[in-house]
Amino acid sequence: MILPRDKAFSTNQLSEVEAILADYGCSLTVIAGTTRTIYAISGDERDEEMVGRIEGLEFVERFDRIQAPYRLMHHASDLSSHRVRIGNVVLGEGFHVIAGQCTIDPRNPQYFLETAHAVKEAGAVAIRGGVWKPRTSPNAYQGDDKALEILIQARAQTGLPVSTEVMEDRHLQVVMDAGVDIIQIGTRNALNYGLLKQVGRGTAGSKTVVLLKRGMHMGPVDEFLCAAEYIAAGGNPNVVLCPRGTKPELDGYRNFPDESITPLLKGRSWAPVVVDPSHSVGKASLVPFASLAAAAYGADGLNVETHVCGSKGIGDDPKQSITPAVLAQLIRDAKEIHSRTLGYKIPLSKA
Ligand code: PEP
Ligand code: MN
Repeated sequence: MILPRDKAFSTNQLSEVEAILADYGCSLTVIAGTTRTIYAISGDERDEEMVGRIEGLEFVERFDRIQAPYRLMHHASDLSSHRVRIGNVVLGEGFHVIAGQCTIDPRNPQYFLETAHAVKEAGAVAIRGGVWKPRTSPNAYQGDDKALEILIQARAQTGLPVSTEVMEDRHLQVVMDAGVDIIQIGTRNALNYGLLKQVGRGTAGSKTVVLLKRGMHMGPVDEFLCAAEYIAAGGNPNVVLCPRGTKPELDGYRNFPDESITPLLKGRSWAPVVVDPSHSVGKASLVPFASLAAAAYGADGLNVETHVCGSKGIGDDPKQSITPAVLAQLIRDAKEIHSRTLGYKIPLSKA
């Protein structure tokens, strides 16, 4: 990671740095953070001669080397002062909730629009809704481009940012053109490095937030942070980590609830953590417990499936969407619990 003396390098300075790096087989990605621009190196940044040449440039403040497998997401990274914003709120300041349907039903747009207004009323800061769905069976509903229009309509009607999952390059292009605020990468694609790179590059320099679900088969915490690193290294530091439960499932739950990794993530990374209690437990009646547990573990917020009439929904909505009334109660309670966690410090990892 290279830090410029000024806020950013000039074009000539950038070319000079890139020419040196190229001699050692390395390249540079420009990452615009909240307070300054930093320059991430791809490749082996350990060559002492290369480091010496870069540090010798008078317009370079310093050359930082972090030994962890993820450099940008590390809490000691120069990105650590970066703040991820969703609309008017800053993640990490208070407790914020993204809520809405699992799936937007293009044949019944009124449900999604009603849900959008209801979650806003309940205190959510952004609206989620699946346009395209990763389904286990190829015969199950796969999504529809028409649902994107409904999502954008909900944004226009409520004034809230919106979130949807992308699974391929075409989706990415379409949502960027439509101005979707939050791009979700689902659990099945959390290890799809090609897609992670594409999303990082395709959203570089924009305000778009990427909400990365934890892979359901991910073990080590570092595996999750490395996946996030692909997005940041592509040029977008607006990354949110979203634990959502792993396999094998705990008997009685849809997955193995993993909100407890929140302090581990926070001990290693500066990135905000927004927990998904819905896919974790998989039953509407259990979602409030997992939500409050996430707040108690110090999460910065939640991503919760909510529907005005879940039984009429599609995808996961009939089984795991909570009602807007439960959402309102849960947001109040989770905020209170979250505020009580602030007196406890999470030790930062040394690695
Ligand atoms: C979803 O958010 O509806 C979804 C499919 O999530 P996950 O990828 O976590 O299963
Ligand atoms: Mn779902």
